Amino acid sequence: MIHVLGIGEGVGIEALDQMAARLARELRVGVRVRDGRLDPGFAFDPVRKQCHATALLRYLSSVCEVGSRLLGVTAVDLYVPIFTFVYGEAQVAGRCAVLSAHRLRQEFYGLPPDEDLFGERLVKEALHELGHTYGLRHCQDWRCAMSSSTTIERLDLKEGRYCVRCWKAAVGAE
Ligand SMILES: [Zn+2]
Ligand SMILES: [Zn+2]
Repeated sequence: MIHVLGIGEGVGIEALDQMAARLARELRVGVRVRDGRLDPGFAFDPVRKQCHATALLRYLSSVCEVGSRLLGVTAVDLYVPIFTFVYGEAQVAGRCAVLSAHRLRQEFYGLPPDEDLFGERLVKEALHELGHTYGLRHCQDWRCAMSSSTTIERLDLKEGRYCVRCWKAAVGAE
C-alpha cells in the first residue's frame, strides 16, 4: 500500500487522485491519497524560499504506517544543502519519498498551463522517487523512469514507467 500526502496547498486533490490511479496501475499496488495536508512550515527556509527535502522526509518517516509507503507531494520548491534544488528525495530501500511539483508546471518556464503534461511529469517523478524506496538506483536507459533527470527536458524525454529490468527489480520482487 502506498499513501500519498499533500504537503501545503498548490497541488490539487484532482491531480493527486489522478497520479495515485496511474501509480496503482504501474506498480500494481493500492495507492490512497490521505485526507488532510501537512503544513511544511517547519521545513521552510525563508531565505532560500524552499523546503529542506530531508527534513520533510524525516517527518514523513515518523508518520508512515507500518507495512506501507508514504509519498509526500508539495508545490514548494525543494532543496538539499549541496544542490540549488531537487525534484524530490527518497529513502533508498526505505519507505518514504517526497517530490516537488514546483518545477513541473509549464508556468514555471513562462509557458501556458498544460494540465496533461503536468500530470505526466508528476507520475514520472513519483515513479522515480518511489523506485528509490524499492531499492532502485539510477538506470542507464534514458526512457526509464529511473534514469536521472536534472532538467525538465530530460524528464520529458523519459517515459512514465520503468524499463523491464527496473520493473522486475521493484515490483516483481515485492
Ligand atoms: Zn534519483
Ligand atoms: Zn530502468
